[in-house]
Amino acid sequence: MIKNIAVIGAGTMGNGIAHVFAQFNFNVTLTDNNETALGKAIQTISRNAERQVNKGIISQATKDRIMLTLHTATTIEEGVNHADLVIEAATENIETKTAIFKQLDLFAPATAILATNTSSISITALAAVTHRPEKVIGMHFMNPVPVMQLVEVINGYATHPEVTTQIVEISKALHKIPCVVNDYPGFVANRILMPMINESIFCVYERIAGITEIDTVMKLGMAHPMGPLQLADFIGLDVCLSILQVLFKGFGNPKYAPCPLLVNMVAAGNLGIKTGEGFYKYTPGSKEMVAAF
Ligand code: NAD
Repeated sequence: MIKNIAVIGAGTMGNGIAHVFAQFNFNVTLTDNNETALGKAIQTISRNAERQVNKGIISQATKDRIMLTLHTATTIEEGVNHADLVIEAATENIETKTAIFKQLDLFAPATAILATNTSSISITALAAVTHRPEKVIGMHFMNPVPVMQLVEVINGYATHPEVTTQIVEISKALHKIPCVVNDYPGFVANRILMPMINESIFCVYERIAGITEIDTVMKLGMAHPMGPLQLADFIGLDVCLSILQVLFKGFGNPKYAPCPLLVNMVAAGNLGIKTGEGFYKYTPGSKEMVAAF
């Protein structure tokens, strides 16, 4: 039975993943090699749990239990030694993740399932650096994790069907809705989303319409809660570019070639919300946003 969860990487996604597992009564150890990131993650989890208490989603007692039962570690060896399930949510970089998976294979119990939250890196390639490829799987949560219902469950080339079943069941135990897909570039979510975002950037680049107009067409016309350019800013333009590059390289099809405007914006350091400017300009502490050009 899966009870002890190790989350690797305490950034945006790692803290959300640790939060939901703790909320639904799992024992969680959150590991990051950066102590400042760990400290920030604990503060974020506390703030988000407080918001859930204020909205009546969880009780104060549940919040107190989440904060008491969350453990932290700064090395993988310490973080995973009792884990039944590891979820790797470290920086999206193939070298980083390959090194982590080698360590997970070394230090996690032989029975442990090794899952990754990667947005675009091959599950099969990560599995291949371990001695247990049948126990390696993708568990792709959406941002913000405590709010978004979907978990894209990604079967690697060698993932055992029993492991898939366990991950589907555990996703349901977190009150999420799992969807099982196979491991090809972008999986399903980003295979469909990123070309839409790229096409909307081409519409700006070719001066088909302004930023606000493109987002309004998609919000009002397609009932999307957020326009594609606003969503790109939220995800991070560097992240969008790197996923498009994975699709382009993985399929060798020019339809995935990133728009030159996206490439330029990333080179300029205008990455979206996290840098204060992407397609929109953002003011810290305010929900106000105006088209950047
Ligand atoms: P992030 O940059 O916010 O956090 C990454 C964390 O990993 C950092 O705190 C960093 O210190 C830590 N880290 C790096 N190397 C490490 C190591 N060797 N050991 C332990 N910790 C290490 O990144 P994020 O946005 O949370 O993304 C994490 C993963 O989730 C990526 O694979 C990303 O593709 C995926 N993802 C992100 C989103 C999103 O919207 N941000 C959505 C779905 C999936």
